[in-house]
Amino acid sequence: MKLKIAIQKSGRLSEESIRLLRDCGIEISNGLNKLKAEAANFPLEVFFLRDDDIPQYIEDGVADIGIVGENVLLEKNKNVRTIEKLGFGKCRLSIAIPRDKPFNSIKDLTKLKIATSYSSILSQYLKKKKVKAEIHEISGSVEIAPGIGLADAICDLVSSGSTLLSNGLKEVEVVLRSEAVLLSNKNLSKEKKELLSKLLFRIKALRSAKNNKYILLNAPNKKLKQICNILPGMKSPTILPLAEKGWSSVHSVVKEDQFWEIIEKLKENGAQGILVVPIEKMIV
Ligand code: ATP
Ligand code: ZN
Repeated sequence: MKLKIAIQKSGRLSEESIRLLRDCGIEISNGLNKLKAEAANFPLEVFFLRDDDIPQYIEDGVADIGIVGENVLLEKNKNVRTIEKLGFGKCRLSIAIPRDKPFNSIKDLTKLKIATSYSSILSQYLKKKKVKAEIHEISGSVEIAPGIGLADAICDLVSSGSTLLSNGLKEVEVVLRSEAVLLSNKNLSKEKKELLSKLLFRIKALRSAKNNKYILLNAPNKKLKQICNILPGMKSPTILPLAEKGWSSVHSVVKEDQFWEIIEKLKENGAQGILVVPIEKMIV
């Protein structure tokens, strides 16, 4: 028995999806021209599919789990379970209009024709904002629609904004912020649930490792108390004596988002030779 995972065949999520599995210690052969592959050292079968089809395959049980952007998940609105945000494939679904057009509020979109591949998400958003606009569904190259006179505005995925810029458009409204998520079928067997939780355990270990740093520093012994109070640590900091008398080496783990604040406080309290090291995996 194997757990079947669906990932994007070729596109913006493919590489990171495969890397995630690899970082979880699961080796799969590169499937660029294949429909499926088997993992060598985990009971996992990998299907390579178009991202748009993945939610349906999971709902139907053809795949047990899969990775897609939240944008695709919401647009397709299938009966599947969201298991975990994965921290990659970050983008936003935004409304953009020609750069030279004025824009004060979303009401300015009233009666405009908006081209998008995300008609379901967009129509819900416009309804919520009480704006009546015309949605024109197209499947690709949305960003050229205003330039060729097909629409007055677009609603499309943006990350850096350079595509918008080169098409003479400006982003005026963020409809949704999205990242890749792990989905699962709602009726997995007990055995498959166990495999999924094994995989999830590894994914979480990677995610918390990315959000934390290992920190080493030297401190005079008389300052140790203050320094230990600043450092949270997984349990409490490790303290080792240095060869130089009256000094210690302190080791701990700090959260990425509190990092700079903590470093400043440590310096103020006499810490020296601060080293910060990435953590590969973290089991809490
Ligand atoms: P497919 O052939 O699988 O249907 P696609 O053309 O629909 O591919 P991609 O452009 O590869 O899809 O994007 C896949 C996902 O990557 C998007 O649905 C979105 O979640 C995410 N993504 C991240 N950044 C961006 C971006 N700048 N533009 C588009 N998608 C992005
Ligand atoms: Zn797609």
